[in-house]
Amino acid sequence: MKKNKKIRDFFKSLKFRLVFLCMMVGIVSTVIIRIGIMSAYESRAVSNRSIDILSQAKILANQMVDTGYVDDTSSETITAQLEQLSQIYDGRVMIIDSSFHIVKDTYDLDTGKTIISEEVVKSFQGREISNYDSQSRYIEMTIPLVRNDPEKELQETIGVMLVSVSTDSIASTLSYMQNRALILGLIIAILLFAFGFLIAGRITRPFREMASSIQEIQTGYGDNDGELNIDKYTETVQICEKFNKLYSRMKMLDDSRQEFVSNVSHELKTPLTSMKVLADSLNGQEDVPVELYREFMQDIGNEIERENKIINDLLSLVKMDKSASDLNIASVNINEMIEQILKRLRPIAEKQQIELVLESFRPVTAEIDEVKLTLAITNLIENGIKYNKENGWVHVSLNADHQYFYVKVEDSGIGIPEESLEHIYERFYRVDKSHSREIGGTGLGLAITRNAVLMHRGAIKVFSTEGEGTMFTVRIPLNYIA
Ligand code: ADP
Repeated sequence: MKKNKKIRDFFKSLKFRLVFLCMMVGIVSTVIIRIGIMSAYESRAVSNRSIDILSQAKILANQMVDTGYVDDTSSETITAQLEQLSQIYDGRVMIIDSSFHIVKDTYDLDTGKTIISEEVVKSFQGREISNYDSQSRYIEMTIPLVRNDPEKELQETIGVMLVSVSTDSIASTLSYMQNRALILGLIIAILLFAFGFLIAGRITRPFREMASSIQEIQTGYGDNDGELNIDKYTETVQICEKFNKLYSRMKMLDDSRQEFVSNVSHELKTPLTSMKVLADSLNGQEDVPVELYREFMQDIGNEIERENKIINDLLSLVKMDKSASDLNIASVNINEMIEQILKRLRPIAEKQQIELVLESFRPVTAEIDEVKLTLAITNLIENGIKYNKENGWVHVSLNADHQYFYVKVEDSGIGIPEESLEHIYERFYRVDKSHSREIGGTGLGLAITRNAVLMHRGAIKVFSTEGEGTMFTVRIPLNYIA
């Protein structure tokens, strides 16, 4: 199993692919060159041989016409020359007369027989024909024997000379060359393999270095301070940059996770510590009056409520965690939803003499998770009430266009200092810790709101002037974008 994986890994490796590519390029080009050279040599050799034979055959043909050899083949000189021609070129010469009879055959096999082939017939019409049969390895030529009659200004074909010569010698040269080319090809392949191996090793080295650096970073060793820096290629530089970004983001996430855990523990411990102090002071006193008991128990009850609120907010926040949550999307009447929220918050607002007003510009229906968005908008309005002044107001407005609906929550409260604006969505962040705690804040409200808005692919913005008031605007798509 492990061995199989190793083999698979080897074939999938960049190194193997580079060696393979190198060899393939080399082999394919040698094969193409070999085929090209071979066929060029073959056609050149055949054409040279054909020209040689043709020129000699033509001289002989003229002599035969002059001596009337077609009608009387007794001329020994010409017969000898014909024999010589067929010997030199390892071939056969036949002379055919006008009635297609073979009057001379240097092989002495077919003399007297009749021959009617396409080439012979065409040659009787005065054409020279040359054919090369690479399969059977011979060249066949037919040359007309033409007699000029100067008196009648006539040309008459009195016979045809058929020469067929073997090209075995060309074929053997070809096969010799082919063998040499094969050996050369093999040598080139071996050289290319070695070269490819060397080059591939060099090319892939930065990637191996990168892997070992990552390993070092992972195990916490190495002197690169968690930075990956292989600047051999543009690609490695880009990968390193991306890796470093990812790594620092992971470090940041880990830091913020640790901070979150320590914040959570701290926040959960505070009410417990208060309760312990209250309980201890009751236990440490003798004959405690009932009123004091009642008062302390009331305080302990408040701390439990606070603990409960923190835990509930934490649970809501976990639910709003983008990856862990699944939205429960449905078509919701937003006007009604906001009216319901205001109805629930009105008693709290009245208690603090805060005027709570809703302005709806048009009826809005949207695809949302009602529970999560209700929580988000409740937090904003609740903050508007909590961080307000005496006889202040909170204005909520709802509007929409063809793509989004907009909720605006404006208050006449204490406002947020400019330097705090970028932190208010952080978990447990509070501008004034003691004030927020006093009025029952956990520092998780806006974190929950922002997560809920982002889950709906929406956006949230804040505008605030210290001492004058704050405005939150929320924009949510009418149709849920998955
Ligand atoms: P909390 O539970 O403390 O209200 P939030 O996350 O809801 O936590 O808000 C974070 C901090 O932002 C608050 O502690 C408060 O200081 C500030 N803040 C939020 N809303 C307002 C507002 N409408 N006016 C003034 N300050 C606000």
